[in-house]
Amino acid sequence: MRTIGMLGGMSWESTAEYYRLVNTSVRERLGGVHSARVLIDSLDFADVEVLQSTGRWPEAGELLAGRAAALQRAGAEVLLLCTNTMHEVIAAVEQAVDVPVLHIADVTAAAVRAAGLSRIALLGTRFTMERPFYRDRLAGHGLEVLVPDEADRATVHDVIYDELVRGVVTETSRAAYRDVIARLVARGATGIVLGCTEIELLVGPADSPVPVFPTTRLHTEAAVDFALADG
Ligand code: GLU
Repeated sequence: MRTIGMLGGMSWESTAEYYRLVNTSVRERLGGVHSARVLIDSLDFADVEVLQSTGRWPEAGELLAGRAAALQRAGAEVLLLCTNTMHEVIAAVEQAVDVPVLHIADVTAAAVRAAGLSRIALLGTRFTMERPFYRDRLAGHGLEVLVPDEADRATVHDVIYDELVRGVVTETSRAAYRDVIARLVARGATGIVLGCTEIELLVGPADSPVPVFPTTRLHTEAAVDFALADG
């Protein structure tokens, strides 16, 4: 079994879910008391958030590249950047290591294609919904990507930063997300990408009339596939 390296803490609420999911998946696949080989480097999200909100992406890239190299030195054989937003700087991370870095949007796009869908809506932070790095990556897999309108993007983003990364999950916000999803479906979305690693702590299949694609779960399954692959 290969060792999975996780760049986490962005936020730790979802990193805890990554840890739980890879271990659950390995137990389901191998049985007995098997569990995943995992190294986690959990950053202080306050350090990352200030770089995001002030647009200091190159510095964020340097920070994550340094931690990625440390994970490789410690024995990681595949890396996960446990946040959609920070895939903005995945090129810096990839340059710092020799091991594969599994891109969360590639994994998600593969699941959307496997479901036979092509017109999807993307929920995530403002950075993920508005900057090209993520939408273009999905579009590169032949997907048409809708995002919520300005007011709904503000709602989706604020719930992530004001609540979900702080461990706060409320019925009010769940209802607000359901409304956002319904409006996207009315605009023609045939699937909903939960493109922030905390969103699946708030909503799931029961909150959407069309399939949802939970990026944390999909990312962890891809990592376990890699960790257990032959050769
Ligand atoms: N975990 C989130 C994501 O998947 C948001 C927090 C962050 O900005 O890293 O985008």
